[in-house]
Amino acid sequence: MNAEQKNSIHCPECGGRLAATEQLCPHCGATIDATAHEGDNDNRAWRTWVREGDKIKNQWVIAVFAFWITVAVQVVVYFYHGKLNFILNSIAGGMMVLGVWLKIRHGLHMRKEPKKSQ
Ligand SMILES: [Zn+2]
Repeated sequence: MNAEQKNSIHCPECGGRLAATEQLCPHCGATIDATAHEGDNDNRAWRTWVREGDKIKNQWVIAVFAFWITVAVQVVVYFYHGKLNFILNSIAGGMMVLGVWLKIRHGLHMRKEPKKSQ
């Protein structure tokens, strides 16, 4: 870890790295409140955990959304052509597996919450 990394913090909004002295995030423009600067290692770990959890949840939502979109398109294709489209089946299957996998990952992630010191 070099000196620059040591003195940097993560933006609570976008997670981007910024100098510990910065008042505004250069990545998303969020105001960095004082607590972010005071954050000790425990809180930093906790924030990283929250951010990581949100990321997995977002990916899960996208996978579920993509699954249902594909299923809806498949229904339309079936309605017009009378047969199921193999590619759409593959995508739907893939999204379902991905969704289940992300759901499991999120569940495992939620179990290992780091303690938050306040
Ligand atoms: Zn930011």
